[in-house]
Amino acid sequence: MPTRDELKRAVCEAIDAARDEIIRVGEDIYRHPEPGFKEFRTAGLIADHFAAWGIPFQTGLAITGVRGEILGGADGPAVAVLGELDSLIIPDHIAADPQTGAAHACGHNAQVANMLGVGLGLLRSGVHRYLAGRVVLFGVPAEEYIEIQERLELRRQGKIEFLGGKPELLRLGAFDDIDMAILTHSSTDRSFRLGVPAGSNGMVAKFVRFIGRASHAGAAPHRGINALNAAMLALSAIHANRETFQEKDTVRIHPIITKGGDVVNIVPADVRMETFVRALNLEALEDANRKVDRSLRAGALAVGAKVIIETLPGYLPLEQNPDLVRIFRLNATELVGEEGYRDLPPIQASTDAGDLSHVLPVLHPSASGSAGQIHGADFRIEDPELAYIIPAKAMAMTVVDLLADGAALAREVRAKFRPKLTKPQYLESMRRLFSVQEYAE
Ligand SMILES: [Zn+2]
Repeated sequence: MPTRDELKRAVCEAIDAARDEIIRVGEDIYRHPEPGFKEFRTAGLIADHFAAWGIPFQTGLAITGVRGEILGGADGPAVAVLGELDSLIIPDHIAADPQTGAAHACGHNAQVANMLGVGLGLLRSGVHRYLAGRVVLFGVPAEEYIEIQERLELRRQGKIEFLGGKPELLRLGAFDDIDMAILTHSSTDRSFRLGVPAGSNGMVAKFVRFIGRASHAGAAPHRGINALNAAMLALSAIHANRETFQEKDTVRIHPIITKGGDVVNIVPADVRMETFVRALNLEALEDANRKVDRSLRAGALAVGAKVIIETLPGYLPLEQNPDLVRIFRLNATELVGEEGYRDLPPIQASTDAGDLSHVLPVLHPSASGSAGQIHGADFRIEDPELAYIIPAKAMAMTVVDLLADGAALAREVRAKFRPKLTKPQYLESMRRLFSVQEYAE
């Protein structure tokens, strides 16, 4: 029986041998970006790999999800390695699809390459035979919380219930037989090579409509109710609450006005606003959400307008599993040295891996190697070795640690894990967050 170190070495050699193939997949996906729940080509590419490897797989999970299984030599827990399938929409991105404006400006193409790299490494080295349990390679849809109106339409049609891929997969039971999940995200921070952020912000999304009364803006403004003024007051009221937020909670509220009126000589009677409300923990998120609602009502109250506030559940804050972090840190340090690894502060963006982390042990490290602005027009992968290959090795080594020796470590991680929410509790809290409130004096 080879030792764990020998198994890790064999997997890493196999990943090195497949280096060009892994990078090619990542760059192919980069050139063919597809936004969430529409990642048919990307999912097909993964399915083609699974078919070529002869492993069992399922497709069409939460519309585009694709899930393959590598079976170990003995029974044991299931460790999932995830790759997010979706792109953003940034029409002026350097590699945007000219038709759809879709672009990979968050490095999800590298994630899929990393996931396939883990699979190639385990299968071609034959190391999977020495593992107890299953390695589930899971291409997951729709991590980016975008195209919300379109997704609400899918929801109305009954094709999805939740607007993000992982919440939807959780609901469908696609994680029911998985014991823990790992995925590595790209980063443009060059101060480290591999690292693990301490967490990420959770968020809710809000659609707001201020209804006033139209009237001639010059001749009879006194007969109108100005919905734009209601919205402006609401924005000021939100700003006035900012001093009540504590640094430790990293609250972020970033509203936009999506409709400011109809024509200039009519008092605006229909003004629309969207915002996310984000915070690092649920208590702070609920507090900020309440204050935003109060502010929106205050704007309406001041001018006698009506406000309709539609709130949608977004993503929960990310909880990194400390045991998985410890195992990953040792492997990462071996690959990139003490100086290349960093325990990172929490990030203020949000991910639906946060939802997963309330139900399962989750590890969500970051890998450097990208340049430009994340979610910006100039985001690109600069160091293919660091973005595509090293994360695959670090995750494969972690999988070996977890599932070798009769999966002793994976069993220990699972036994120690106390979920913040059971799956029914999670689904109930998500469903409760969908709300429409109307307020008029
Ligand atoms: Zn991302």
